[in-house]
Amino acid sequence: MFDTAINNGFVVDPANNIYSRLSLGLKDGRVAALSATPFDAGAAVEIIAAAGLLVVPGFIDMHMHEDRYDPAANSFDINILDAMLRMGVTSVAGGNCGIGTCLPREYLAAADRQGLPVNIALYAAHAEIRKRYASDNYAPVSSEVIAQMARDLDEQLAGGCLGVSFGLRYVPGTSREELHALARVAARHGKLLAAHARDDAAHIHEAVRELIDVAAEERVRVQVSHIGSMAAYGQMEEILAALDAAVAAGLDLGLDCYPYNAFCTAIGSATYDPGFLERYDIGYEAVEVCGGKYRGQRCTREIFDEVRRDTPEILAVAHVMKEHEVDMALVHPRTILASDGILFNGLGHPRAAGSFPRFLRHYVKERGILGLNEAVAKMTCLPARRLGFIEAGLKKGSLGVGDDADIVLIDFEEIRDLADFAEPLAPPLGIRQVLLGGRTAVKQGKVKDNRLGRGLRV
Ligand SMILES: [Zn+2]
Repeated sequence: MFDTAINNGFVVDPANNIYSRLSLGLKDGRVAALSATPFDAGAAVEIIAAAGLLVVPGFIDMHMHEDRYDPAANSFDINILDAMLRMGVTSVAGGNCGIGTCLPREYLAAADRQGLPVNIALYAAHAEIRKRYASDNYAPVSSEVIAQMARDLDEQLAGGCLGVSFGLRYVPGTSREELHALARVAARHGKLLAAHARDDAAHIHEAVRELIDVAAEERVRVQVSHIGSMAAYGQMEEILAALDAAVAAGLDLGLDCYPYNAFCTAIGSATYDPGFLERYDIGYEAVEVCGGKYRGQRCTREIFDEVRRDTPEILAVAHVMKEHEVDMALVHPRTILASDGILFNGLGHPRAAGSFPRFLRHYVKERGILGLNEAVAKMTCLPARRLGFIEAGLKKGSLGVGDDADIVLIDFEEIRDLADFAEPLAPPLGIRQVLLGGRTAVKQGKVKDNRLGRGLRV
């Protein structure tokens, strides 16, 4: 007797090359059987009729920024993890770009105790470790501090972190010695070094070269984070070629990318300091104001200057990435789909709530740039492997017998991201049901249980 049977869905499981109408029997949180004929009412406690729906492994978001956990209050602010669940994501990797919220060990233990909307794994975040010893992000640290940071990192990796993440753009004082010393620790553990590169746009070439060099010299597996927002300003073709050449020479270099060609930040922030038009090769009309009296309007020089001067806190969207270059990145076989979702006080870029449905709609359904199997692979088994889940014995990202029953049921006719810059957390259409460990977390767009997720350690 199964706990649940999912009958007659179209199963897409790229890890196992399964691509046909099948029925799944779930037992004790795992896939227990796949059958070409549906299970009858007596075979399972609950039967889910999935005819006409896609049945795919729960999505894995390998690059996002997790909700905060406050150890003193023993509480999470749950915003983004909820948005993740609603778009079909069942496991995430947080702690990216060098940014963490507390000790990963404490976060994961609290996740186990309280339960979260999705399963979560964490990187050891470089900037968090560094700020224990140094307050100036612009200044290098001493060899003694680097040695201490390496010991801290070693401990976090031994505790199950995915690898080390850097936001080199945000910590310009990170020296070559510091980067390489920490890379050696990750390499010793066979884990990833994920990096928001030191610079973007016209300066991305040197920034990626730095990452290729560390991969080569320290034999560390490197993940180049959110490549679209780093290089889709006229540099993508050359960057992909540089990375491919390095891979051909034996290095292990991966990429991830979010499926949007715009970013969003406060109009008063450094991103919009003088020189940004040249940096991104755009005009004022590429900037959209998100609040105040010009809300929804594209800028002129006058509007931009006025809003930046009078209300610097207002968010502005920069429609700056070249879409064909974002496409080029996402089509690349080593590129994994990831949201880079991040929220401040529950607000932010729609990628936090729309990336995965948008990828299916915009890349598979409407433009046919990717096949369904290929797209699902970029959201499931490829991130599972890249993050080291499979080697660590975590049965994520696939639906073979014995795998975790993290499953999404999708109405492909209906699939659509509704989150936009005006309504960044709007849940998508077409995610019919989401199961974590065989239990229903989302049904018909409604969250039924947001405590099924646990900490993941590799
Ligand atoms: Zn980043």
